[in-house]
Amino acid sequence: MRLTFIVGTSAEHGQPKNMSKKFRVFATCDIGEALDLLRKRGYEVEVYPAPEAPPKSLILEKVSSGIDGLITTLRDQIDAEVFEAGKGHLKVVAQFAVGFDNINRADANRYEIPFTHTADVLTEATAEFAFFMMGALARKMWTAEHLTRENKWGYWHPYLPFLGDEVTGKTLAVIGTGRIGLALIKKSTGFDMNILCYDPAYQNHEYVKAIQEMKDLRYARGIQKEKTWIRYAGFEEALRIADFVSVHVPLLRESESATPTYHLFNERTLRMMKPTAFLVNTSRGPVIDEAALAKALRENWIGGAALDVYDEEPLPADSPLRDPAIEDRCRLYPHFASAARITRLSTDPNKGMAGRCVQGMIDVLEGNYGGDITKMPYVVNKEAFGK
Ligand code: NAD
Repeated sequence: MRLTFIVGTSAEHGQPKNMSKKFRVFATCDIGEALDLLRKRGYEVEVYPAPEAPPKSLILEKVSSGIDGLITTLRDQIDAEVFEAGKGHLKVVAQFAVGFDNINRADANRYEIPFTHTADVLTEATAEFAFFMMGALARKMWTAEHLTRENKWGYWHPYLPFLGDEVTGKTLAVIGTGRIGLALIKKSTGFDMNILCYDPAYQNHEYVKAIQEMKDLRYARGIQKEKTWIRYAGFEEALRIADFVSVHVPLLRESESATPTYHLFNERTLRMMKPTAFLVNTSRGPVIDEAALAKALRENWIGGAALDVYDEEPLPADSPLRDPAIEDRCRLYPHFASAARITRLSTDPNKGMAGRCVQGMIDVLEGNYGGDITKMPYVVNKEAFGK
């Protein structure tokens, strides 16, 4: 297929007075109107126009051609090869995502290339999607809709052909109490849930205390009938007690962390969950050993799973997760948790991933914050730039 690249130039948009250099940027996918913010500033912006990820060879070719900035998504492998190709001219990689496991941080640091991400602006959208996944799974929304659409709804009956499980009043384990984990805690508080928090690296006790106060007030004022609680717990304890387990960790491999998350959910840990419990994953696919999960679902070690992310994306046709024998208890979504209109495309850096992505790039290229990369809010690898 021959692709026509979308190019906007400074000639079309005029160059701002305060910029002496015209920056060149390559985006590995179209991130919408936010790119016009760059064009209006006089940047030359080239966009890979196909919906699929560009091949690595094309990224290397574009980076070698002398670009100043590269806009990436989680589909692009950004490593030493890319940084080497950009030696002497590539100044920033702006990732359109909060997760950055596709970017080799050690390599970026070695080449002293800052990379940015789009934290915060996707927190609420991702947390609400995780919450909806719990509901869709436990209340069998997919199976129920199929029953109706396929004209198999033969009667109203107290328990036939199946029942779902309530979310309200159940116990939720939140694995990873960073931005999205805390947002899920806030949302599930409205559903009178008890909450177990697990995070070996970051514990926000102030937040947990405030949520407990909210729960106590709701109970005292008759808004919820039962007293509910929230507390930090150990991983195994959380898995053994919870009715729902929702995962909100970054993908960290053995070499990257003292508390790696690669295959955090495996045969051993899946067996710790209650046979009625539901697992929800909106983090990254490799956090769960998919073969072990498929086995757990087939053999009913757990009640069900809802997944938004996978080892390999898009999910391969022969994935064991597609087994029709488990389809009633395995919900599958296409890496969709942040896929809401404002969250993805707003040009406002305080609302949209696109706006934040572009602002991160502008900060570095135009030397905002006095050119001090350690002060730029969207740069991830600040450690490479301390004196
Ligand atoms: P965050 O950095 O604010 O939170 C992650 C938390 O996980 C941190 O508090 C960290 O201490 C904790 N953690 C690290 N290792 C752990 C371990 N072994 N066990 C338990 N907790 C551990 O990140 P965030 O903004 O909340 O995002 C979390 C992840 O969600 C991202 O890294 C990304 O991979 C994923 N994500 C997916 C989507 C989607 O569309 N499906 C959208 C947004 C984010």
